[in-house]
Amino acid sequence: MSDLVSIFLQLLLFKLVAPVTFRHHRYDDLVRTLYKVHNECPHVTRVYSIGRSVKGRHLYVLEFSDYPGIHEPLEPEVKYVGNMHGNEVLGRELLLQLSEFLCEEFRNRNQRIVRLVEGTRIHILPSMNPDGYEVAAAAQDRDISGYLVGRNNANGVDLNRNFPDLNTYIYYNEKNGGPNHHLPLPDNWKNQVEPETQAVIQWIRSFNFVLSANLHGGAVVANYPYDKSLEHRVRGFRRTANTPTPDDTLFQKLAKVYSYAHGWMHQGWNCGDYFPDGITNGASWYSLSKGMQDFNYLHTNCFEITLELSCDKFPRQEELQREWLGNREALIQFLEQVHQGIKGMVRDENYNNLVDAVISVSGINHDVTSGDHGDYFRLLLPGTYTVTATAPKFDPETVSVTVGPGEPKLVNFQLKRSTSPAAPKRRGPNSGHRGRVLPKKVQPRAARKKEMMMKQSQRVPA
Ligand SMILES: [Zn+2]
Repeated sequence: MSDLVSIFLQLLLFKLVAPVTFRHHRYDDLVRTLYKVHNECPHVTRVYSIGRSVKGRHLYVLEFSDYPGIHEPLEPEVKYVGNMHGNEVLGRELLLQLSEFLCEEFRNRNQRIVRLVEGTRIHILPSMNPDGYEVAAAAQDRDISGYLVGRNNANGVDLNRNFPDLNTYIYYNEKNGGPNHHLPLPDNWKNQVEPETQAVIQWIRSFNFVLSANLHGGAVVANYPYDKSLEHRVRGFRRTANTPTPDDTLFQKLAKVYSYAHGWMHQGWNCGDYFPDGITNGASWYSLSKGMQDFNYLHTNCFEITLELSCDKFPRQEELQREWLGNREALIQFLEQVHQGIKGMVRDENYNNLVDAVISVSGINHDVTSGDHGDYFRLLLPGTYTVTATAPKFDPETVSVTVGPGEPKLVNFQLKRSTSPAAPKRRGPNSGHRGRVLPKKVQPRAARKKEMMMKQSQRVPA
């Protein structure tokens, strides 16, 4: 066989087998890739920017939906955020791979992907810290090793320590009574956060996100809230204490879905650390304040976990394909998790949509609200629940619901205008609901003790 024919055949084979290239993408390359995917799948994608970094780089999001740019009632919104720490680059590359994969499989009429894209609105932000990435990538090129080079944004700020601290308020409220959701931002919050953080806060306030994951590196574990420890116990030189949310069992399940669908995360031993099932409560690992995942849970309807995906924060290019194959199924399964629990419309007697109606589940001290279209989404594990919808000037409505393991159960509410003089006063948009249920005390399991005992290596935060 002539060399030319051989090269031609190899090229053909490469095109058939590996249409996706595995390489690190600098900023221009990243932007090109997002638009390339959009051009290949123009009817189910949209590229938009949520703002700019300190150095003026756009924070681009690629959206997948059968109606890009439009919220369809009862269709949940879900997001992935990568590269918040500029030197933790695997998430950025995985999200680009995921974008190409979703587009390609949609075009191939892969029924699982078609159903996902048609029933879900997926937002992908591959890089929240494009300035930090460029610093980290330049250091790699010059072979400068530094564990933290490029971690922060261009102002030297760690973006995962830059969100308003709402934990202090929720821990106070849990003890003394008060709102259990949608805690308000401080008045001057914009002056207290970096441009990237501000862009993300405005983004997550303008969509009714239900589920999210924030992709990091430096360990291999699925980390769920809270990240900030309630207790001030110090272990070694760090504060660590399991600090569960009222949705602890649900968060553990979400984290396990990722770790078990991942090639090796669930095995527990990775990067010299041991995490049972490949998951951990954030604060039980190490306490951090002003993180993004706690903020999502406390300020919005969004349930976010943090995925630590690689021991090496900047893996070599040759490792990217193996990493993609190890994460692909987990990335898809996690998106599918948004379709569980209950969802429905909240309307008045004349079928007008009620926005910001509060949905409370008995026994779980964390409410969610209906979005701009009157639709709500409440992630729940299978079980029987007492669910109440309330809205100012309307009588509450309570129903009993049994949730199965499959698709979410449709539970609509039609509230009657209150006639009693003791009608509830209009509450502020950020205040919580009445009739709070105290959070269940969750005892750390024996496994957690083991986890803590085995955690010897105290490395720089992931
Ligand atoms: Zn990180």
